[in-house]
Amino acid sequence: MTFTQEQNSPIAVRNAAVLDVRQGELLLGQTVVVQGSRIAAVADDSSIPSSAQVIDAQGMTLMPGLIDSHSHPMQVSGNFNDLLEWSPYYVGARASVVLRDMLHRGFTTVRDMGGADAGIARAIEEGLVEGPRLKFGGPIFAPTGGHALTKVVDGEVELRRGIRKEFRDGADHIKLTVSGGVISKMRMESLGFTEAELRAAVEEADMAHRYIAAHAYTAEAVNRALNCGIRSIEHGNFLDDESIRLFLAKDAFYVPTLVTFWYLTQEPQLSALPEDKRAKLSGVLEAGLDSLIRASKAGVKIAYGTDLHGKGHEYQLMEFVLRAKVQEPIDVIRSATLMGAELVNMPGQIGEIAPGAFADLILVSGNPLDDISVLAKPEEHLKLVMANGRIARNRLAVDPL
Ligand SMILES: [Zn+2]
Repeated sequence: MTFTQEQNSPIAVRNAAVLDVRQGELLLGQTVVVQGSRIAAVADDSSIPSSAQVIDAQGMTLMPGLIDSHSHPMQVSGNFNDLLEWSPYYVGARASVVLRDMLHRGFTTVRDMGGADAGIARAIEEGLVEGPRLKFGGPIFAPTGGHALTKVVDGEVELRRGIRKEFRDGADHIKLTVSGGVISKMRMESLGFTEAELRAAVEEADMAHRYIAAHAYTAEAVNRALNCGIRSIEHGNFLDDESIRLFLAKDAFYVPTLVTFWYLTQEPQLSALPEDKRAKLSGVLEAGLDSLIRASKAGVKIAYGTDLHGKGHEYQLMEFVLRAKVQEPIDVIRSATLMGAELVNMPGQIGEIAPGAFADLILVSGNPLDDISVLAKPEEHLKLVMANGRIARNRLAVDPL
């Protein structure tokens, strides 16, 4: 079947159960009217303009498009040596496939946590590359000997110089690695950057009206970053009580990325890791689940993140399933919608179905409030993806016209 979207004609989705992510309930008998790139109305059938193309969504749930707040569309290989050797044009071409696939999984906005820049975001905006709205961070900043591949800076001057350049070039945020990592040479317990450096980075971001994100694992690294004014903590598997207190006091965001650890514990990824890393992995995943439980109970703002690379990208929806082991479905869905929207400074614009918001919508069969696994099986359940009012993917069984 085909659904040929007519240029400029409004689209009305009727008969869907509309998921109100704020209230956490399904609204029945609502019609969502899309005009251009925005939602024009959420009302009843009387709101359908006579010129509208109508999609009958009987038996399906209409949700806001998903937001992945920790993604790496430019890390097109799981082998970092590939990324260092490959031509940037080749990486860009492969990234275009990764981005298209993300959109087709229902992610209408992704927050890049290292590597994407204004060029790839522009290519998406101009329609050269099919992909989600991209909030990009430029290179990852790390000190000498630190965790990360990209930009090595030491001292306040180098840090300020680098950050000023990235913000000038359009970065939405900057990520600093403030502790080691699971698969890096730098031990996880080690700290990266001095407090003076962290505060300098935050000051630069404040001046640019942007923000700093931190890759951090241990409570020591997390708490230090939060105390210095860093706005989002990436991974954060080993939180303590003080971390929870600081998240709340600073109104900061927590972006767990459980699926990346799950992915590394699967074969053939597991065997490819050195022995010492292998032994650590399941503990890191367990601790991450435990931290998620505590942060969620305390009411910390939690966004949905995945942190996958290369072939791992295909498991981008698996994070829903992992989190639902310890959280209510609606809370996981809010992480991937409302919270992501707030984190990327677009509340009311994305992450909810409301008049005036961007028409970023997905249509799924089944009720994700009852069974969140419907979100993790797009081949079976994801029927339609609309981004910016444009239909990007259509798997409806019958011609909606
Ligand atoms: Zn990452």
